[in-house]
This record gives sequence, structure tokens and C-alpha cells, in this order.
Amino acid sequence: MAAGLITFKGVVQGVGFRPFVFRLAESLNVKGWVNNNSTGVMIHAEGENLREFYRRLLAELPPLAVVKEHTFKEIEPLGYNDFRIVASTGGQAKEVLISPDVATCQECQREILDPEERRFHYPFTNCTNCGPRYTIICDSPYDRSNTTMSKFPLCPDCQKEYENPSDRRFHAQPVACPVCGPKALLQDAHGHVLSGLGQDQLKNGAIVAIKGLGGFHLACDAKNHPAVHMLRLRKARETKPFAVMARNLNVVHKYCRVSPMEEELLTSGAAPIVVLNLKTGLSDLQLPPELAPNLDTLGVMLPYTPLHHLLFDDELELLVMTSANRSGEPMITDNDAAFTKLRGIADYWLTHNRDIYHPCDDSVIRVIAGQPVFFRRSRGYVPLPVELKRPGLSVLGVGGDIKNTFCLLKERQGFISQYGGDLANYDNFKGFEHSIVSFQRIVNCKPDLIAYDLHPEYHSSRFARNSNLPSVAVQHHHAHLASCLAENQVEENVLGVICDGTGFGLDQQIWGFEFLWGGQREFVRVGHLEYLPLPGGDAAARFPDRLALAYLVELFTADGKEFHEYLPSLTDTEIDLITQQVQRRINTFLTSSCGRLFDAVSALCGICTKVAYEGQAAIELEAAIDQTEQGTYNFTLTTGENGLQIKTKTLFGEILADLAQGVSAGRIAAKFHRAIGDIIVEALRRLEDKYDSRQVALSGGVLQNKYLAEYLMQRLNQLGFVVYRQSVPGDGGLCLGQAVIASEVMKNVSGDSR
Ligand code: ZN
Ligand code: ZN
Ligand code: FE
Repeated sequence: MAAGLITFKGVVQGVGFRPFVFRLAESLNVKGWVNNNSTGVMIHAEGENLREFYRRLLAELPPLAVVKEHTFKEIEPLGYNDFRIVASTGGQAKEVLISPDVATCQECQREILDPEERRFHYPFTNCTNCGPRYTIICDSPYDRSNTTMSKFPLCPDCQKEYENPSDRRFHAQPVACPVCGPKALLQDAHGHVLSGLGQDQLKNGAIVAIKGLGGFHLACDAKNHPAVHMLRLRKARETKPFAVMARNLNVVHKYCRVSPMEEELLTSGAAPIVVLNLKTGLSDLQLPPELAPNLDTLGVMLPYTPLHHLLFDDELELLVMTSANRSGEPMITDNDAAFTKLRGIADYWLTHNRDIYHPCDDSVIRVIAGQPVFFRRSRGYVPLPVELKRPGLSVLGVGGDIKNTFCLLKERQGFISQYGGDLANYDNFKGFEHSIVSFQRIVNCKPDLIAYDLHPEYHSSRFARNSNLPSVAVQHHHAHLASCLAENQVEENVLGVICDGTGFGLDQQIWGFEFLWGGQREFVRVGHLEYLPLPGGDAAARFPDRLALAYLVELFTADGKEFHEYLPSLTDTEIDLITQQVQRRINTFLTSSCGRLFDAVSALCGICTKVAYEGQAAIELEAAIDQTEQGTYNFTLTTGENGLQIKTKTLFGEILADLAQGVSAGRIAAKFHRAIGDIIVEALRRLEDKYDSRQVALSGGVLQNKYLAEYLMQRLNQLGFVVYRQSVPGDGGLCLGQAVIASEVMKNVSGDSR
């Protein structure tokens, strides 16, 4: 008779781990006990089949369990004659990871459609394998009393399931049923209560505000042109694409091309929005072009709560599901706020009485060069940590102001928060302050150090400087680089290529297309795009046509009038004004931004001259690409005091020549993308000798561009470069980089050699 003490750490509580252990022990005639403790799960096991037991524990984990560490220690057998789940010890499960929210599992989906089941048509059905988690958890440890389900005492039937180790709902904290759980409520604008979940209203073209897991959505039938048009008008959202929710995978296949990896993402427990290529144009698919104006892609997700599943039927297969907030404001999570803020936008409100504690937007992913790339990492992924190679200090990285996320670094884990929007908005900033406090509770980390962006005007930076903690300012693009390296667990210095929108530079200029040599502690700038004028500063990002003109005036030292034919959207007055601004450097900043270069080219091609949402000009330029074009343009590469400089005069000259000859926008777009890829490769080939390294890290928001990233990867792979890519290349990934840099810098200062 052998005996062993087995421990598991990671996401091992609230995911059906103990019943799983119990059942396996029974089947292998193993005796002893299992319990939850402050670090995870502990098992005392005795019997002949110990080895097999341990092996199968690891091989057959419950679907939501994530084991980060496991140990086996031989001990003296104590002669148990059965196997039991014993009471938790230690109370506070502080090292246990809290699970993100999980999409409704197959079994729960079956139950809600089975008239024999007591949860038939119950919109809040869940079990240990699925349901709300992070969005309803207020504190750790993860017990019902620490969730927003605490106000729903279990009925006797649910209590039985909760206590039965062989039940799928054993210790499922959010367990509920029609008798004891939350209830959905459909109301019109006058507050009158209606029956149903709004399906009939949706079919009739109405706009329904729907409370989901992490916040409210605005929904309408995505195939109903007038409804989609109405939603755009009422939300005052001109062109930013809407995400849709499809009844099932078959419906997705009807409209989009879906790769196996994309299918896996769509059907995963995280159930993100996946940006998919449309089979043909929206109108050819009989879908309203207003779903995603000027794009060849559509953001699609599958139903992820029972409530969503119940909305669909044979007559309804595709719903617009856009976050219910006014542009730039935080997601609405509160019933009262939904009624006041969405008055005049929604026709009906489908609410429920389970509170949302942590607001969480839908995550957005696009598969690029065979890897999922997050445009937004939020619901379904937060608060799972990024695993690091070495333990760090306890650091709060506050992120940047745009697309804010923050990060708590603790030992070997980087916990990145949900998406918090633009901090220039007061409510977003309040949300940021509030989330920092609650996130510290959830991941049980009190930071000793705070890291922030070098930008003097960022609200996040001010917040950091005003805190009582020692603080470290981090250059924006160094943070992008370090974030990529931390995620890939790379410790040495590499060549960093950061293709980005804007970031405050060490020389006070606005950087954006940067070649760095560095690592998780230090960096040097070894090359960049030449500086070009930004008339009116950041406002230039909203007017690609003005930007394009400014670039041409600067590069060709010419009067703007010469270029009017290429930029017909500008008035004579605007042209004179911009020409003077640039020539006399009035209210004009300098930038090496990569994003702005895309904007300028987009305007020159006549694709996008005014921007209604962030990145629009570049996104539409990519969508316009003629895939058959194999040509490229030329940049000039010079060596100056700041290392390599990429000069753009040749590029713009060639584009103007193509335009003059009537070359199509699609071909120009393709050649431009390839030219960017080519010049990066050329610069790297010069730098690899100088720094004796063929390791390259790619980051920055522009690398959300699928065509560019795939073209670049293909060329770098051909040349044998070792390339590290990032899952969150945009500013949502900054916070992790800030935190690891601050940790490395301070370790060095304090002589901590961990
Ligand atoms: Zn379930
Ligand atoms: Zn119940
Ligand atoms: Fe950035």
C-alpha cells in the first residue's frame, strides 16, 4: 500500500476539480481525501493505483482547470477506507487564480432547450464548467458570498446539486434556477413590463438594450437594413463597424470564411469576437453594408450566455451586438443607467437583477499569420495572467491613456486588467481608479512600485506620479518591446521593430515607427522614420487629408496648391492654412509615426479623408488592397546621428506618379503595404550585423494590420530571422511592458539579483 500527498496550483477552484478527483478516486479504488486550501487543491491518496491516479489526474483535467504547478510527495499511509471531499482549510484561497467568464457549456445548452428539465428556457443556467465568473466576483476567495449572487439564497433543489460531489453543479458558486435565481425583465420605454425576451421586437426591427455578462449591448436584427440604419443614426456612430452575434457556427460559415483556428476561437469558452473575412461584399451576401462600411471583414461572435441562446430561433440568425455606450464612454452595466443613458437609442430594455461587478467588454481577436492577435483582450481572458520567465517585483503598470489596460505584476505572473477605454473621458478615468483597487483584491497583489508612460499629459501618468509609491516612467515604445519580450519569455536584448500610432519620445517628439535595440531593462533607439509635420498636433490624426498635404508640402518644399488635385476634399483655405502652418512651423509637431503614414497614404488614394473611429484610415486602406498586386515602392535609408532614418520622399513621389497614371487605389494600397514590409526588412539587415543579432521583436498597434504582418513575417522567416510576436500589439499591451521594465530597473538599483 502506497500513499501520496498531491497538490495542484492554478485555476483549480470553482471549476469542478474536487468532484473530478472524487470520481477518479472512486473508479481507481483510491482512498483518502481532497480539499481546497489557500494555495489550491490538496489530495491525500492511498491505494494500489496511485501512479495511474496521478497520471490520469493530469491527463483528464476538467475543461476549465488550468494547472500551473503540481507536486507529488510520498507519505505514510493512514489506512483510510473511503474517499471524501473534506471541508476547505485555511479559508482564504489567496493564491488561487480566479477564472474568467466562460461561455455556456454544451450540457447547459441542452438543458435550457429540454422541456423536461427544470431549467428549461432559464436564461441564467450555469454549472462548474460554465457561466459568469470574473464579472460577478467582488473579492477573493471565490465563494458565492463574495459574488453578486450572494443575494440569491439557494433553493433546496439547487442546494442539493451544490452539495452533491457527483453533480455537475457541485460547488458551482453562481448556480441558480427559475425558483431561486435571477430573473430577466423586458420593458418598453415607459417602463411597462412585457413578456418574452424581446425576440418578437427584434424580428420587428426594434433596437433592444440587452444586459449581458460584462455590460449592456444594443441589439437589432443584423439582416434588417432599416434597423441597422436606425441604430447607426441613434447611436451617432457613422462608420465604425458593428460586431454581430450569429445563432451558431453554420450561420457564421454562411457569410464568412472561417479557418480551423478561427472556429476554435469562436467556440472556445472565452467566446471572443473574431474578425473574419467576408465571403463577398456585404450587399452580395444580402446583409446591410452599414454593418461594416468599406470593410471586407466582419467581427463575429457566438452566443455565450443562455440568455443569448434563447434570443435566436429559425427566424433570427444574426444580431448586431454592439456595446451600449455613447461613443467614448464606459460600458453601461447598471439597470438604471441603461434606462437613462439609452433613452432615445433603445426601444426596449432586457435587463436582469444579477449585478455586474466588473464591467467587461467583449474581447476582439483576429488571426494573423497563424496566431490570434488581440485587438482587445477583455471578457473571457481577464483575469488570467501572462506567465513570465522570472519572478518580478510587485508592480502596477498603469498603461497608456488610449485603450487603457493596467497590469499587476506579482512573482512570475502579469495580471492584465479588462479594457478600460480612453482615460481622457472622465467616467473612464473613474472606472480606471475603481478597477485598480478591486483588481488588487482579486489577484491579491499590493504593488510596491508604479510604472507609467513618459507622456507628461497622460491622465494615467499623472495618476502614477500622484500616488505614494515610488514610480518609474517608461518610454512608450520600449514598453511595447518589453511587453513582447516578457510574453515570449525572452531575456536577452533583441532588435525591436515597433510600428505604432503615437508615443512620447525621449526627445519630446512624437515617435511611432521605431527600431530599438534592447530588452526588458534598457533600450537604445537605433533607427526611425524621418520626422514629418503634424499640423495641429494630435488633431491631425482625425484628418488624413490635411496630414497628407502637410507631408507633401514638407517633403517637396512646395506650395500645397500643387497637390490639390490629389486631395480634392480640402478647401483652398485649408490648403493655404496648412501650407503656412508647415512652412512656418505654427502649432506643428513632429512625428515619426507609422500609423500617420498609413493615414496620409489612405487620404492620397481617396480612401479615407476624415476619420470617425481610431485607425479607420489605415483599416480601410488595408481593406482596399488588391491582392493580385505584387509590386512595391521605395524608401531611402540613410544613417544619421539617431541611427538609421527611413526617408519618404521617394515613396510619395512614386505614389503621386501612380496616381497621375490612374493606377487603382487597391494596387497603390498593396504596393504601400509591401513597401513598409520591405523597408523593415532592409533596415533589419543593416542592423543585424551591427548588433550581431537575428532576433526580432515586433509590436505596436500597426501590427494589427493582417496584410502587413503576414507579408513581413513571410519575408523575415525566409531570411531566417527569429521573430517574436505579441498577442496584444496595441496599447492594451503597454502596461505589462511598463511593469516588467520598472521591476528590472528597480531590481538593479536595489541589487536584488532574482
Ligand atoms: Zn454548464
Ligand atoms: Zn434554485
Ligand atoms: Fe502604442
